[in-house]
Amino acid sequence: MSVYEIGLRLQGKSVLVVGGGSIAGRRVPRLLAAGARVLLVAPEATTTLSDYAAAGEIQWERREWRSGDGDDAWFVLAATDAPDVNAAVAAEAEARRTWCVRADDAAASDAWTLAHTEFDGVAVAVSASGDPRRAASIRDSIAAGLRTGDIDAPRSRTARPAGVALVGAGPGDADLITLRGLELLRQAEVVVSDRLAPQELLDMLGEDVEIVDAAKLPYGRHTTQEQINAVMVERALEGKFVVRLKGGDGFVFGRGAEELDACLEAGVPVEVVPGLSSSIAGPAAAGIPVTERGVVHDFTVATGHVPPGPQSKVNWAALGAGNGTIVLLMAVKNRAAIAAALIEGGRAPQTPVRIVENATTKNQTVRNCVLADLGVTEAHHPSVIVIGDVAGRAREL
Ligand code: SAH
Repeated sequence: MSVYEIGLRLQGKSVLVVGGGSIAGRRVPRLLAAGARVLLVAPEATTTLSDYAAAGEIQWERREWRSGDGDDAWFVLAATDAPDVNAAVAAEAEARRTWCVRADDAAASDAWTLAHTEFDGVAVAVSASGDPRRAASIRDSIAAGLRTGDIDAPRSRTARPAGVALVGAGPGDADLITLRGLELLRQAEVVVSDRLAPQELLDMLGEDVEIVDAAKLPYGRHTTQEQINAVMVERALEGKFVVRLKGGDGFVFGRGAEELDACLEAGVPVEVVPGLSSSIAGPAAAGIPVTERGVVHDFTVATGHVPPGPQSKVNWAALGAGNGTIVLLMAVKNRAAIAAALIEGGRAPQTPVRIVENATTKNQTVRNCVLADLGVTEAHHPSVIVIGDVAGRAREL
């Protein structure tokens, strides 16, 4: 069975969707993304679909389909769980020369929804002689290839973004960067990278991409941060597209604010792409939710790079007095002093603690102790230290 693939430009055009179940639930968001005016006819609908209706994004006629519903439609989706209804919807569409997809019966359907994926402005639709499973698995391979760069998707030079993108690379595993971050990284001409950013992300860059290793910048009279800002701004002013790649989220103890200011001051266009911070993702990867209903209603992320005392801006006594989850970053060196300050503030010495090292990577290691023993429990950089009842409730993954 051979099909003729086309792209429907549905902006402002009516589309009739009959049936409010999971198939309609999957198709409607893409119809809306294409700008269609969706009329849903169904006695019941999924929560997502009824939310769309409540928000006015689709029109929902809460009843059975009847003849004439498709009078204004350019395109019809018959997706009820009753084959005879789908057949009637399709027959009426055919009589009106309107294309109709029957979700229940590909062989009886005039049109098919193809397996579809999108990456970086490229849309790919796959059909496989009417075998939707095969089409979906080929689609998955293509999607993975586009993401990893195994499938080359060169873009025209003019379409390249400009300026600087501050991209959070995620907590360690290269797969945990966001789609947007990856899209921008693949277009970068200069990448200014960090020690904690996953190496695999740099390995996939083309030969012609300049990689600036922030840890290796000479600092001389200036701090490394000033050097980083200067390189970013200089290259962007030369017309190159620069990605500043940071471990985790650049705005969580990542000096993202300073980098953003440097770009704004230089008048360089800048985009901020959030990343998954190790402060939440690290515990999660070790089976520790930082909040849990009925257990803890707050969590605090604090840096331990300076010990409790006049230099620290953290109110350790207040943190000790509270009962929420405490997540410590950069705290390996000062963990004994921090534990003592929290206990002095009122935190129970027996409070459970988990130390998650190299979170989300293949070298992830988790150690358990109680707060009183944190100072004498083995810990190495980079580690996220989680203190509180949730640490004692970690799930085995
Ligand atoms: N911007 C980063 C944090 C930078 S501070 C983020 O949002 O994740 C650096 C600290 O982050 C390290 O000292 C460590 O405490 C923590 N960290 C970063 N990556 C980590 C990882 N994979 N495993 C454990 N801790 C990590």
